[in-house]
Amino acid sequence: MLREKIGITTTVPVEIIYAAGRTPVDLNNIFVADPDAAGLVAYAEARGFPQSACAWTKGLYGVVHRYGIREVVGVVEGDCRNTFALCEILESEGIRIRNFGFPSSRRAEDLRLRMERFATELGATLARAEEEKRKLDDIRRLALRLYELAGDGGVDSGDLFAGLLNTSDFFGEPERCRRELAAAIEKAGRSASRPEADPVRLSCAGVPTILTDLWTGFEKLGGRFVDHEVPRQFALLDGIGAGMVETYLRYTYPYDVFRRIEDVKKAAEKRGVRGIIHYVQSFCHRQIEDRLWRERAGLPILTLEADRPGRMDERTRTRIEAFMERLTR
Ligand code: SF4
Repeated sequence: MLREKIGITTTVPVEIIYAAGRTPVDLNNIFVADPDAAGLVAYAEARGFPQSACAWTKGLYGVVHRYGIREVVGVVEGDCRNTFALCEILESEGIRIRNFGFPSSRRAEDLRLRMERFATELGATLARAEEEKRKLDDIRRLALRLYELAGDGGVDSGDLFAGLLNTSDFFGEPERCRRELAAAIEKAGRSASRPEADPVRLSCAGVPTILTDLWTGFEKLGGRFVDHEVPRQFALLDGIGAGMVETYLRYTYPYDVFRRIEDVKKAAEKRGVRGIIHYVQSFCHRQIEDRLWRERAGLPILTLEADRPGRMDERTRTRIEAFMERLTR
């Protein structure tokens, strides 16, 4: 059966989409993996998006049109402040828009109501979604295994990032996601047997980076990311085996920054992290929170900012070198 695609602007309870017999497609993952990601941004600008808007937002717009997505779920509470406007534009162009929001109250009953409404709209039920969750949790257990192996320093920074990130929609093909995670685990097992200098353990907080060579840039200097905050949250590792409402309440990203910082600190302590990269996107409202990360992280922290998809510029490279020198001195 051909399952109709539905674009998502960030992590939503994908179990509901699967329960409705639809295929979730995380627009972010398509954008960042597209070899012409810069072209998708340029396409949005050619259609009226300002230069001074976040490249992720423009990329999502480009993906919807270039990949022929006809329906999109916009997360209008608990994610990006641009989503509402993006969805208005898309709606004006004939794209069917559905909304989902994580309630700022973070109360179980409020979240349950939103999930039930979302399920009804799509023609599913929460009970069916719970069944889907049990199946998807099996795949999330592989993501957890990869994350555990990364704690021993045995997983490439980029493999960990991709392995966690791709569970936001399971590629719309859960079996493919299972295979790719199994392959990443196997690769990690092979590299664990290679004698290597102990890497400088790093953690990355903040929205997923748009830079294509950030992980290799650090690895060349002896660093390795053993935690990626937001992709790990997208993978919902803390909710494996729990019910839908409980799982999406434990998910920190849609809620306040204070719990996010505590979550990153806890993971950093467990994993022997020596420094944190706070990645911020140009023109993103979340940049305002950078001060709080710097004040509360409790570890050396480097804030890196980028605008367009592609490779790092020289200034960023130099700042990374200086930071790594500081950590290894
Ligand atoms: S980086 Fe910030 S502004 Fe851009 S899409 Fe993400 S949350 Fe929105």
